[in-house]
Amino acid sequence: MVKGLSSQKLLKNNVLEENLCTGCGACVGLCPYQVIYHDRTVQLHYCDLTEGKCYAFCPRTPTDFAKLRELLFDVNDLTPEIGAVKAYYLTRATDVSLRDVAQHGGTVTALMELALAEGLIDSAIVSFRNQEFLQNGSMAKDKKTIRKNAGSKFTVSPTIAAFNQLVNQEAGKVGVVATPCQVLALAKMKAQSQKDESGKINQLQLVIGLYCGWALSMEKFSQMLAKYNIKLDAIKRMDIPAGKNILELYTEAGVKEISFDEAQACIREACRYCIDSTAEYADVSVGAARFSGNAEEQRRWNQLIVRTQKGRYLIELAVKRGVLEIREAPAESLQELKKAAAEKKKAALKNIMRKSGSAKNLLYLDRRDAVVQAILEQSR
Ligand SMILES: Cc1cc2nc3c(=O)[nH]c(=O)nc-3n(C[C@H](O)[C@H](O)[C@H](O)COP(=O)(O)OP(=O)(O)OC[C@H]3O[C@@H](n4cnc5c(N)ncnc54)[C@H](O)[C@@H]3O)c2cc1C
Ligand code: SF4
Ligand code: SF4
Repeated sequence: MVKGLSSQKLLKNNVLEENLCTGCGACVGLCPYQVIYHDRTVQLHYCDLTEGKCYAFCPRTPTDFAKLRELLFDVNDLTPEIGAVKAYYLTRATDVSLRDVAQHGGTVTALMELALAEGLIDSAIVSFRNQEFLQNGSMAKDKKTIRKNAGSKFTVSPTIAAFNQLVNQEAGKVGVVATPCQVLALAKMKAQSQKDESGKINQLQLVIGLYCGWALSMEKFSQMLAKYNIKLDAIKRMDIPAGKNILELYTEAGVKEISFDEAQACIREACRYCIDSTAEYADVSVGAARFSGNAEEQRRWNQLIVRTQKGRYLIELAVKRGVLEIREAPAESLQELKKAAAEKKKAALKNIMRKSGSAKNLLYLDRRDAVVQAILEQSR
């Protein structure tokens, strides 16, 4: 940390003004000085604290990735491309009515519902979208609320702000559904709690990570929609179907297909510097299935990485209770995933160097960190 500068000032200089902010919300709700406005993090008042948690938890401040891996995972499970892998499957919820409302196979919602029903957690933090298309984390204490919030919204959700704001004693044991940047913030909170043993992070019992290629900037996305006369509140569902280079927008008037190039122009800048596509610091990570065959069939399945012992217990329980259907994934599927994840890391490094103007300055990444060094090696 630079001597003399407050944590909040460092966050402003190094993250917010550099457009590195992912909108995860980890710096919001810790104090009254920072808030989320639409998908932007805004500092309302000055704070002179030099050891602020806002800076410590932010996924875009220097991180000891090697230490996080050591803290959370079995070293024998670690892979350079996608983090810890205990097992890898294709999965889907057995409940067809859940699959109908979920993004893909409904695995995430099925697992959260099960964790709640079995008392592994007492509350789940999921992402809630309001009529203006604004997203927030929301705390669910029953199956109905978890299910109501199924489906992916491809704009940012400040889910970790909800963790900071809503978790109290009554929340009991908490589970969170989160994108990779949000999962990283939670992992940094866990690492911090090792030092001061304080805080609500000890209530966190389950992290289900979502794969993530990018998120859309609200401003750019709204501008693009205006071009097609589509109102934000008319969008019921969004998807990026396998094998088709399009973003699908489902509205009451039908499905609007947006070309990938046009959708990509709306990506939040911070996502271009992101090295994680599979939520490497979660207990379980879930994404869209990729296998050859019928595209509609594929859309209704997930791929899933089990990363921790807790994750393994949950998946075994889900199979035992009959809420999850599991298939062995084809061998090439894991190889393709690793290849795609490595490509995202390489592209992010390239974008970071381009932004900093130097191969030596990796902005929020510390080139001495073993995990960062591995990416540099792969990029040669
Ligand atoms: C921004 C974003 C980008 C993604 N990119 C990819 C990708 O490139 N490749 C890929 O394979 N998968 C990607 N996914 C994951 C994919 O869309 C599905 O979430 C995943 O396959 C799980 O499907 P499911 O049917 O099990 O989810 P569901 O059972 O429908 O559950 C989805 C859960 O995600 C939560 N959620 C929705 N939107 C957000 C958000 N913005 N932030 C945090 N939580 C949210 C919901 O509240 C719900 O709990 C992305 C997801 C998001 C949110
Ligand atoms: S990335 Fe998250 S923690 Fe960092 S400034 Fe943005 S919202 Fe705050
Ligand atoms: S691409 Fe990375 S930074 Fe952007 S939303 Fe996904 S996990 Fe967060």
